Amino acid sequence: MLHDIFVNICILMVLIFLTAKAFMGKGITPSSPIKQRLLFGFIAGVSTCIMMVFTIHIKSNVTLDFRYFCIIIVSFFGGIVPSVVAGIISIIFNLAYHGINDISIVSAIGTILVSLGCGIFSSFNINDRLKWILMFIYSILIRRAVFSVILSGNKEASNDENLINLATIIVSVALYFFINYLIESHKRVTELYKKSIYDYLTGVYNKGEFELRYKNIIENVDNLDESISLITIDIDHFKSINDTYGHDSGDFVLREISKVLKKSFREDDFIARVGGEEFSIILRGLSAEKTKEIAERLRIAVENHWFILPCGKNVSITISIGIAVYAETTNDINYLKEISDQKLYIAKQSGRNMVCS
Ligand code: GH3
Ligand code: MG
Ligand code: MG
Repeated sequence: MLHDIFVNICILMVLIFLTAKAFMGKGITPSSPIKQRLLFGFIAGVSTCIMMVFTIHIKSNVTLDFRYFCIIIVSFFGGIVPSVVAGIISIIFNLAYHGINDISIVSAIGTILVSLGCGIFSSFNINDRLKWILMFIYSILIRRAVFSVILSGNKEASNDENLINLATIIVSVALYFFINYLIESHKRVTELYKKSIYDYLTGVYNKGEFELRYKNIIENVDNLDESISLITIDIDHFKSINDTYGHDSGDFVLREISKVLKKSFREDDFIARVGGEEFSIILRGLSAEKTKEIAERLRIAVENHWFILPCGKNVSITISIGIAVYAETTNDINYLKEISDQKLYIAKQSGRNMVCS
């Protein structure tokens, strides 16, 4: 029987790991889109079926497995909907696989109680650990009740059940830490990923990510079916902000300018900080005229924006902008950046606070 317990636990671990891999990015909660919760419940339901096939044999016609854990896990993360879905799949499979008899009917009632009960516990506004313990104790009690009906008085089988209860407690604690470990490592990977693509100071994309996007556009130029505009921005006389008000005020201005940029562009426009006080924006599907119009609007927005520094001083800032548009102002995508930089240089040379395209 130990062999069966070990196999069941291994299946459970693998299923949790695979499900976590599939769902971690989306982060399942009771308010996730209904489609995701239904899918989550379906996968958990299928997992219970696999566990039934590789079950733990107690007597010739009595088996036991850790399927309730699948239901606890989906309830814990996704609430009552996936919990009930998993329960229904589990019951249907159980009846089909073992046939309709006293044992499978009692077992089905147990599954209904566990999926509804855990689903309800998941809505409790309590600490996660307490919630987990509550679901776990509840499911053990239900399983106890199911088994006392099924085994009624078979002493040998009761001893086996005690061994399985002990294994269940050990698995529950191990699972709690295993799932926590998966969640923590996922959080760390997500944080590291964000740090690797976003600028720590302003929250827009960083230079590394800009270079990647730019390279990607150049490499796929043959498949491009829309124009690509590159806007390069440099803050005018930014050094004097640092020199007059200090580096922290300079950082503040960079963050404020980034907010103005985010407000001025669309969701899928790509905004990056590519140098100390330089930003680049990649826009798709715009003519040179439209790009210039947008850049001009941005220049005016910055000029009219009052930057209230942490020291309370009001300062106004201006920016110079260079523009290049593929395939309108240049038909060689490799020169897009160079041309945009040249235009920015001309804007600076011509007196700053202007757009040059
Ligand atoms: P121009 O109009 O010709 O662009 O003049 P400028 O003063 O803006 O340009 P310059 O290249 O002379 O100075 C850029 C300054 O930006 C110098 C540097 O100390 C500052 N800087 C670069 N990165 C940061 C940063 O992350 N925070 C702050 N506060 N300052 C920065
Ligand atoms: Mg500069
Ligand atoms: Mg500058």
